[in-house]
Amino acid sequence: MSKTNLILKKNDKVIVLTGKDKGKIGSVLKIDTEKGRAIVEKLNIIKKHSKAGAKGAKGGIVEKESPMPISNLMVICSKCAEPTRVGKRLLEDGSKVRTCKKCGESII
Ligand SMILES: [Zn+2]
Repeated sequence: MSKTNLILKKNDKVIVLTGKDKGKIGSVLKIDTEKGRAIVEKLNIIKKHSKAGAKGAKGGIVEKESPMPISNLMVICSKCAEPTRVGKRLLEDGSKVRTCKKCGESII
Protein backbone atom coordinates (compact mmCIF):
# COMPACT_ATOMS: atom_id res chain seq x y z
CA MET A 1 0.00 0.00 0.00
CA SER A 2 1.33 3.38 -0.92
CA LYS A 3 1.86 5.83 1.86
CA THR A 4 -0.07 8.43 -0.11
CA ASN A 5 -3.12 6.24 -0.01
CA LEU A 6 -4.56 7.79 3.10
CA ILE A 7 -3.47 11.30 2.35
CA LEU A 8 -5.61 11.96 -0.65
CA LYS A 9 -8.93 10.49 -1.64
CA LYS A 10 -11.30 10.85 -4.50
CA ASN A 11 -13.61 13.86 -4.14
CA ASP A 12 -11.27 15.60 -1.73
CA LYS A 13 -11.06 19.34 -2.16
CA VAL A 14 -7.47 20.26 -2.74
CA ILE A 15 -5.46 23.40 -3.31
CA VAL A 16 -2.54 23.49 -5.70
CA LEU A 17 0.72 24.50 -4.01
CA THR A 18 2.93 25.04 -7.00
CA GLY A 19 2.94 25.41 -10.75
CA LYS A 20 0.73 27.30 -13.14
CA ASP A 21 -2.43 26.54 -11.17
CA LYS A 22 -0.94 27.57 -7.84
CA GLY A 23 -3.63 28.64 -5.39
CA LYS A 24 -6.47 27.12 -7.35
CA ILE A 25 -8.92 24.72 -5.78
CA GLY A 26 -10.56 21.65 -7.23
CA SER A 27 -11.98 18.25 -6.46
CA VAL A 28 -9.92 15.13 -6.90
CA LEU A 29 -11.32 13.04 -9.73
CA LYS A 30 -8.82 10.24 -9.85
CA ILE A 31 -5.75 9.13 -7.99
CA ASP A 32 -2.85 7.08 -9.25
CA THR A 33 -1.09 6.03 -6.06
CA GLU A 34 1.57 4.09 -7.92
CA LYS A 35 2.71 7.14 -9.82
CA GLY A 36 1.87 9.50 -6.99
CA ARG A 37 -0.35 11.58 -9.22
CA ALA A 38 -3.88 12.85 -9.12
CA ILE A 39 -6.30 14.32 -11.59
CA VAL A 40 -8.08 17.35 -10.23
CA GLU A 41 -11.23 18.72 -11.77
CA LYS A 42 -10.55 21.62 -14.16
CA LEU A 43 -6.94 21.96 -13.03
CA ASN A 44 -3.68 21.36 -14.83
CA ILE A 45 -5.57 21.61 -18.08
CA ILE A 46 -3.77 20.71 -21.22
CA LYS A 47 -5.08 21.78 -24.56
CA LYS A 48 -5.07 19.34 -27.36
CA HIS A 49 -5.74 20.36 -30.88
CA SER A 50 -8.11 18.07 -32.61
CA LYS A 51 -7.72 17.76 -36.31
CA ALA A 52 -10.18 19.29 -38.68
CA GLY A 53 -12.41 16.67 -40.11
CA ALA A 54 -13.44 16.18 -43.66
CA LYS A 55 -15.97 18.38 -45.42
CA GLY A 56 -14.98 21.59 -43.69
CA ALA A 57 -15.59 20.46 -40.13
CA LYS A 58 -13.66 22.72 -37.84
CA GLY A 59 -10.73 21.52 -35.86
CA GLY A 60 -10.96 22.48 -32.28
CA ILE A 61 -9.15 22.60 -29.03
CA VAL A 62 -9.99 19.94 -26.52
CA GLU A 63 -9.25 20.71 -22.92
CA LYS A 64 -8.39 17.88 -20.64
CA GLU A 65 -7.11 17.53 -17.11
CA SER A 66 -3.67 16.00 -16.86
CA PRO A 67 -2.38 14.29 -13.73
CA MET A 68 -0.23 16.25 -11.34
CA PRO A 69 1.99 15.14 -8.50
CA ILE A 70 0.12 14.56 -5.26
CA SER A 71 2.96 16.33 -3.48
CA ASN A 72 1.87 19.53 -5.23
CA LEU A 73 -1.55 19.32 -3.63
CA MET A 74 -2.84 20.02 -0.18
CA VAL A 75 -6.15 18.82 1.19
CA ILE A 76 -8.64 21.41 2.28
CA CYS A 77 -10.32 20.40 5.50
CA SER A 78 -14.06 20.01 5.18
CA LYS A 79 -14.54 21.26 8.72
CA CYS A 80 -12.36 24.35 9.01
CA ALA A 81 -11.97 25.01 5.27
CA GLU A 82 -8.22 25.52 5.64
CA PRO A 83 -5.56 23.82 3.55
CA THR A 84 -3.95 21.39 5.91
CA ARG A 85 -1.51 18.58 6.29
CA VAL A 86 -3.24 15.34 6.99
CA GLY A 87 -2.60 13.33 10.10
CA LYS A 88 -3.72 9.86 10.94
CA ARG A 89 -5.51 8.64 13.94
CA LEU A 90 -5.93 5.03 14.89
CA LEU A 91 -9.39 4.20 16.09
CA GLU A 92 -10.18 1.67 18.78
CA ASP A 93 -11.33 -0.83 16.17
CA GLY A 94 -7.97 -0.61 14.43
CA SER A 95 -9.12 1.43 11.45
CA LYS A 96 -7.38 4.64 10.55
CA VAL A 97 -8.98 7.98 9.95
CA ARG A 98 -7.46 11.10 8.48
CA THR A 99 -7.31 14.11 10.67
CA CYS A 100 -6.85 17.79 10.01
CA LYS A 101 -3.66 19.12 11.57
CA LYS A 102 -5.25 22.54 11.87
CA CYS A 103 -8.49 21.82 13.72
CA GLY A 104 -7.96 18.20 14.72
CA GLU A 105 -11.23 17.04 13.22
CA SER A 106 -11.34 13.88 11.20
CA ILE A 107 -11.50 14.27 7.46
CA ILE A 108 -13.93 11.86 5.90
ZN1 LIG B 1 -9.70 21.41 9.89
